[in-house]
Amino acid sequence: MSTNVEQREFQAEARQLLDLMIHSIYSNKDTFLRELVSNASDALDKLRLESFHDKDLQVDTSDLHIDLEVDTDKRTLTVRDNGIGMSRDEVIDLIGTLAKSGTGELRRKLKEAKDAAASEELIGQFGIGFYSAFMVADNVTLVTRRAGEDTGTRWESGGESTYTIATVEDVPQGTAVTLHLKPEDADDHLFDYTSPAKLREIVKKYSDFIAWPIRMEIERTKTAPAEDGGEPIVETVVETETLNSGKALWARSRDEVSDDEYKEFYRHVAHAWDDPLEIIPMKAEGTFEYQALLFIPSQAPFDLFQREHRSGVQLYVKRVFIMDDCEELMPEYLRFVKGVVDAQDLSLNVSREILQQDRQIRAIRRRLTKKVLSTIKDLLAGDRDRYRTFWAEFGRVVKEGLISDTDNRETLLALSSFDSTESTESQTTLAEYVERMKVGQEDIFYLTGESRQQLENSPHMEAFRAKGIEVLLLTDPVDEVWASSVPEFDGKPLRSIAKGEVDLDSEDEKKAAEADREEKEKDFADLLGWLKGALDEHIKEVRLSSRLTTSPACIVGDTFSMSPALERMYRASGQALPPMKRILELNPGHPLVTGLRTAHAQRSDDPTLAETAELLYGTAVLAEGGELDDPARFARLLADKLARSL
Ligand code: ADP
Ligand code: MG
Repeated sequence: MSTNVEQREFQAEARQLLDLMIHSIYSNKDTFLRELVSNASDALDKLRLESFHDKDLQVDTSDLHIDLEVDTDKRTLTVRDNGIGMSRDEVIDLIGTLAKSGTGELRRKLKEAKDAAASEELIGQFGIGFYSAFMVADNVTLVTRRAGEDTGTRWESGGESTYTIATVEDVPQGTAVTLHLKPEDADDHLFDYTSPAKLREIVKKYSDFIAWPIRMEIERTKTAPAEDGGEPIVETVVETETLNSGKALWARSRDEVSDDEYKEFYRHVAHAWDDPLEIIPMKAEGTFEYQALLFIPSQAPFDLFQREHRSGVQLYVKRVFIMDDCEELMPEYLRFVKGVVDAQDLSLNVSREILQQDRQIRAIRRRLTKKVLSTIKDLLAGDRDRYRTFWAEFGRVVKEGLISDTDNRETLLALSSFDSTESTESQTTLAEYVERMKVGQEDIFYLTGESRQQLENSPHMEAFRAKGIEVLLLTDPVDEVWASSVPEFDGKPLRSIAKGEVDLDSEDEKKAAEADREEKEKDFADLLGWLKGALDEHIKEVRLSSRLTTSPACIVGDTFSMSPALERMYRASGQALPPMKRILELNPGHPLVTGLRTAHAQRSDDPTLAETAELLYGTAVLAEGGELDDPARFARLLADKLARSL
């Protein structure tokens, strides 16, 4: 009996995804079963766990399993589990909407996805498990009852814009998903999902490691020799067959497991569709005994930088699933790592609070971190192309570790790579930079900013370009933070070229420059003094520059001061900072600077000179990609000046 029947609309993004599923010819339709079995397995894990923690929950957990049921006449396939089930609200939330964050991003990508390859990638990236049923079915019914509840829920959809939802009685606890298989596949034995042989093959291939039994009833005909020489007796018997071996892959050694098995297991634990880039099996014996099977994905999930992003390591204790997203096992900057850790000596009812204090968990985390980092390092040394793929996807996250994980800082620096003025094609490691350093060069120079182009055109770059000295170009937001807190690599100080004084001259050049500079400073003393007064609101010092060749002026920080971008980041995050003033450096060879000196010497009381000073300062701010305090005023002053010059 159904009551409370409702027709509802799919959320817009969910509808588009469904559409994608139905119309794109995904190269491998068989994977729908992997997704449904994976969900069923999760549901069984959750039930076992909940019954463990909630003693009042009246459920039978003695025979948790997954059934595949086929009706050849109706051409249906049902995947049934006696797991946790879903309440009516959960069905609406989990199945009717995309429970995942980042729907804006998804919407944008859906618009862009034109061809099959692009949509295949989308399916992969957003890992839309349940909806993959619509690759093979034109109607899907889900009947479910949550453990502990009396009534069940029936959900049904033809994959169009709506679904119906109803409350139903007499439903077994757990979830049954019934697929009405598409008629167009009926005659193609490749897609005959009612055939036991086909189902057996798919389960073996994609879901063999699932810990719960996946069962199917198989009809067999038995022929017994007849008595008395008459006709032999043919008898049909129904047998229950378990299709999967259920072996925990992490408990086996690497050579016993094929890459394909690892791959499918990765897709199950990571809820992903891509291939793992690296497979990392680990085993520790002795005081802290554990096994781990970790994966580095080949593709970053779209929500890697969103707050809701969950960590990807599951905790098992003695083969029993304990929790998803065990954050205690992996530092945040390795949150893209997926997999399983099975600890032998923890209690089965361990809680998050206990985990946070647990010495053993901390030891495991240290080991896992080291192992992941050494895997990346090996990748860098052994397979530069794969390393590049990795770094393009996850480098921005790994660099967070330069700030948070001081213990592994050296290793992290060694396995990082950066854009540099050396090449527009490929990035460089710090070790490679050091190897290319000029004789007498002691520092590793870098510049932070928003884009490569902005940095390359920055006035700070001029002297470095003129001397052919390499500069690292750091354009990720995280670079601002780590670069100012990491003092050195391999004994070589890291130095921002936008800070402090620059001195790129050789000893001989220095002597000549020194004499020259003393003279210049005398010549410019009046101008410098006057400018400091005129621009007092913005800057704390004016001096002659040795880093400029073509620009009239630039702004630099003290050696240990914050960069303006970092200052903006702190302010944006609500931190109160004292106002920071930086230093204006002038190019004594530039006509604007010499002209201003002459003008000031001749008519120091001319009020328009102060405006020119302000414009000079403003252009220096703009040239480094900075923001003006009062852009409208700057624009007005500039327009007036231009008008007068015509
Ligand atoms: P994912 O598994 O990556 O979360 P899916 O689209 O496969 O995404 O499933 C969406 C959600 O629906 C699951 O997270 C789960 O909460 C719920 N769900 C799906 N199938 C089942 C099931 N058999 N039993 C209980 N809940 C389920
Ligand atoms: Mg799923």
